[in-house]
Amino acid sequence: MKKLIAGNWKMNGSVATAQTLTEDIARAVAAEPALLEKNDFLICPPFLHLSAVRAVVIPMKAPIDFGGQDCAHTEDGAYTGDISADMLHDFGCRYVIVGHSERRQHHNETSELVAAKASRIHAKGMIAIICVGEKENERGAGHEKDVVGQQIGHSLPSSATAENTVIAYEPVWAIGTGKSATPEDIRVMHRFIREKLQEKLEDSGRVRILYGGSVKPDNAAALFAVENVDGALIGGASLKADQYIGIAQAA
Ligand code: PEP
Repeated sequence: MKKLIAGNWKMNGSVATAQTLTEDIARAVAAEPALLEKNDFLICPPFLHLSAVRAVVIPMKAPIDFGGQDCAHTEDGAYTGDISADMLHDFGCRYVIVGHSERRQHHNETSELVAAKASRIHAKGMIAIICVGEKENERGAGHEKDVVGQQIGHSLPSSATAENTVIAYEPVWAIGTGKSATPEDIRVMHRFIREKLQEKLEDSGRVRILYGGSVKPDNAAALFAVENVDGALIGGASLKADQYIGIAQAA
């Protein structure tokens, strides 16, 4: 299975920096075609910068997917400020991230809401990247598997398959802190996630499970060597082309 190198730009940058960053990434991938043998590339910019990314990717024929960082839980209608899965699909997105811990934390998103969003993504034939992960105090209390097990149990809609669903395990305490989980923590949790998926999906062995949380070029090789790590969801390091590509080179 190729590694999915997924960049989550979060709420950063401008139209101009989105364009430059995409150009730099596209040029780096074109200069090293061997990267495509091991990796699939995905960029998730802020909604307003999707058109700047697409305006680079399409004319350059760059083998890079683009996607949303979130979507609404329903089709269309009176939802001021929201963007629907239908709109993202219409725009050409292939993936949408849902249930990122920042949305669970700052927007009080529940796993049930995440499942409703993922269901809309699946209805449009796109791939939902469903994020799960425990907080520091939950790990400290030894409850990390309970938390992640509950999130897996409630965030996957009945439409989920290996083709349309990616899981991103992102321990909250490792996001943006420079403190990645250890390869052993990741091995144990990714195996647990695979087992939980077996309870819900027939083709669970083929679901990609990404790790996210302070992934950088210098720790990527060790993380990618861990069993059941099928790629990375990358925040900070995805905002620098050399770091994003450095992570792919580690695969
Ligand atoms: C993220 O935002 O999903 C993330 C993992 O961020 P960072 O790589 O900066 O820790």
